[in-house]
Amino acid sequence: MIARIDEERVRQVLQDLVRIPSVNPNFEGGVPERDVAAYVEAFFARLGLSAERREVRPNRPNVIGMLPGMNPDALGLLLEAHMDTVQVTNMTIEPFGANIEDGKLYGRGACDTKASLAAMLTALEWFVMNNVKPPVPVFLAATVDEEVNYLGVLDVLQTERRFAAAIVGEPTELHTVVAHKGVVRCEIETIGVSAHSSKPEEGLNAISGMLKVIHHIDNVMNDRLRAITHPLVGQATLCVTEIAGGVAPNTIPERCRIKIDRRTIPGEDSEQVWCDLQTEMAQFEAFDEKLKVIVHPPFVIDYAMHTSPDSEIVRMLTAAAGSKIGTVRMLGVPYGTDASKLARAGIPSVVFGPGSINQAHTKDEWVELKQVALAAEIIADTMMGFGKR
Ligand SMILES: [Zn+2]
Repeated sequence: MIARIDEERVRQVLQDLVRIPSVNPNFEGGVPERDVAAYVEAFFARLGLSAERREVRPNRPNVIGMLPGMNPDALGLLLEAHMDTVQVTNMTIEPFGANIEDGKLYGRGACDTKASLAAMLTALEWFVMNNVKPPVPVFLAATVDEEVNYLGVLDVLQTERRFAAAIVGEPTELHTVVAHKGVVRCEIETIGVSAHSSKPEEGLNAISGMLKVIHHIDNVMNDRLRAITHPLVGQATLCVTEIAGGVAPNTIPERCRIKIDRRTIPGEDSEQVWCDLQTEMAQFEAFDEKLKVIVHPPFVIDYAMHTSPDSEIVRMLTAAAGSKIGTVRMLGVPYGTDASKLARAGIPSVVFGPGSINQAHTKDEWVELKQVALAAEIIADTMMGFGKR
């Protein structure tokens, strides 16, 4: 049986979702995900499906619904999509209007990633409405906080449940993403000696020291990273993204801090990357014993992911996508998603969804409705095949 999902129904659900603000509270104008969670909870209740609500932070609950499978004891398939969006500052369209023009639905989260959530919800609804059971139970986790700290997906991993595989909803234009980069972000600080700027020789300038560090990062270290590559995601990268230092125009600065962003590729160990940075920076102290260079512990660590093309979820999803849209591509992407956390917990995971990452976070975010309906059908067909013996 092949699922046929009505574009009109997908439109309704996506419009409902976009019209409920859920800007991650860490961003300007934040609104906790509570109301989207309540919508998802009511959606499951109306279908007669059980759902668990888990308060990850106050007013920021995950909702995990379950569609029973023919084999109730089998490990389930997890569908996961985040409910939070980025800020709406400087948008040129009505962010929560969900207006439609030329088959495109506009609004914050329309593409990233309420389109995926709408596709998953309507796929589940199709099974209930048509009285069809998938081979194994299917869980849909609508999660909080993907855009900042991944608190939602990490909480899903705290539950008792174990999953056979996961599809993480993000805009991939219906391609199957099997690999992505990870990231390590930390601060590097130089500490010198402050002095009156009329007698600079009595001090040690932390900003000048930092310039040497930055030069080393941009030239020597980045050159070396060119050799660290992966066929699907490309090369590891390192860049300086913020700088701060000095206290007054007439004082030799004692301290200077930078933030760095190091993108890792599958196979690299994030903790090891941090250790290597420390070793690398130690040489500056050997250069000049008065200058201290501190590599602070990472404030963000996320892991790279690579799921085997032979795993069942990749085979099922690409087969389902192939029969709907013809050409199927298995891709790697440079950005991170919730999938790497699931993969690290041993759950074979892929990233899949309607819309393009080029529209995510933009001032006029939109998604093509036809693609959302196709995504729903591809997800439903995958549910139908996964775990079948
Ligand atoms: Zn997203």
